[in-house]
Amino acid sequence: MRTPADRQTPVPPEDFRDHIATTDEVGRRKWIYPRKVHGHYFRLRTWFSWLLLVIMFAGPFITIHGNPLLMMNIVERKFVVLGQIFWPQDMIIFAVSILVFFTGVIIFTAAFGRLWCGWACPQTVMMEMVFRKIEYFVEGDAHEQRLLAAAPWSGKKIFKRGFKYAVFFALSFLVGNVLLSYIIGWRALWAIIVDPPAQHLVGLTFMTLFSLLFFGIFARFREQACTFVCPYGRFQSALLDENSIVVAYDHKRGEPRAPFKGELKSEARATAGYGECIACNQCAAVCPTGIDIRNGTQMECVHCTACMDACDNVMTKIGRPAGLVRYASLNNIERGEPIRFTPRLKGYCVVLGVLITLLGLLIFNRSDAEATLLRAPGSLFQQMPDGHYSNLYTLRLVNKTSRELPVELRLESPAGSITIMGGQDSITLPAQKLTENSVLVELDPAALKSGTTPVVIGVYCGDVKLQTLKTAFVGPRTQAH
Ligand code: SF4
Ligand code: SF4
Repeated sequence: MRTPADRQTPVPPEDFRDHIATTDEVGRRKWIYPRKVHGHYFRLRTWFSWLLLVIMFAGPFITIHGNPLLMMNIVERKFVVLGQIFWPQDMIIFAVSILVFFTGVIIFTAAFGRLWCGWACPQTVMMEMVFRKIEYFVEGDAHEQRLLAAAPWSGKKIFKRGFKYAVFFALSFLVGNVLLSYIIGWRALWAIIVDPPAQHLVGLTFMTLFSLLFFGIFARFREQACTFVCPYGRFQSALLDENSIVVAYDHKRGEPRAPFKGELKSEARATAGYGECIACNQCAAVCPTGIDIRNGTQMECVHCTACMDACDNVMTKIGRPAGLVRYASLNNIERGEPIRFTPRLKGYCVVLGVLITLLGLLIFNRSDAEATLLRAPGSLFQQMPDGHYSNLYTLRLVNKTSRELPVELRLESPAGSITIMGGQDSITLPAQKLTENSVLVELDPAALKSGTTPVVIGVYCGDVKLQTLKTAFVGPRTQAH
């Protein structure tokens, strides 16, 4: 780790382990100009990205049983996954889902490295398939971009930069709004857009913040989001082993590298003791994180496959088989071993299987409604004109279904009566809503124990018991038997 005092001592650029590719010898940001890539994997990734972009942008408008596909409403503590609403009361399901997610990520990473980062991560998809393409369109390939950056400010440079950043900001605004609609829902977002601004100051603030955040990420921060901020890249080194499939350079086939010219232009290379890497640096030139895959698996590699395409194109041109840089495990390269289902992976799969089963059971046994009974704040007990004692409670009911539920309360023990305040016999719970009612429990003095008496209340929908509530009834100590 370099301290500020070390800054005057340049780090040799070839010593890639001591500094990241996006800093220069004295620790300043080095802007990456990756060359345009084309090839088999890039085509596949482009098609796949289009699919993901359609899902991402259409997601907030897709509904299942009237609920969005995905909504993480932190403000109202309401979470919707695949049209199913989950409330804070479903915390256990949420906790197990998180465990399933992380175990899945661990297994996936141990088996396939950062496949997710290269193919499906929204940061990579947006950066490489949207913003980068716009940049190529406006400023040209890496070489033209370098020339433009070095050129003095002129009308042409101001126009190109201004146009690029204007498009970037418009897109960042769009992405920010999509993110906001995954949090508050598209209807609430639409209200922010069409209502007078004074009615949605908080919403407008977030809209602006999200737009600026994405603009900052895609216009300036870029690959540093993957190398500095995202924790996934950091812990992959703890998950990968020699059997994990990663984007790898076949050093056995490629080394020792030598330029493709003169007497080293043909099969004579092998006779002369050279490998197939022709040191053209195309794999490094296309890398969006600025690394050289020939240095081995590195934390900065997002498995975007650009170097695989670049090298395959070179190999095709010089008449050698593709795959010098390819998806492979270390054991595959070193010993030619096929992909193995290792004991470590088997162990992870067993844990994942158990967690998925548990999650399935929790979702299957999830009740239609959930009730919470709390003593009304600040209330003790009251004696009624007929001599009975009463306690006031607050009942919170959540209807987790997408239909109305009529709910009744029955006092099961001890003998007494239960009344829903407001003159109703039952509570009609609107679909997917939370209601709050005051409930009065009256007990005969003979049923009371000293101080507090346990009370059991049944929550029913028709004849189906939804839940049993247990609480304490506070009475006078003098009534103890
Ligand atoms: S090394 Fe290759 S796969 Fe890794 S980020 Fe660079 S170009 Fe993408
Ligand atoms: S693109 Fe292939 S041949 Fe060229 S330097 Fe990279 S690994 Fe070697």
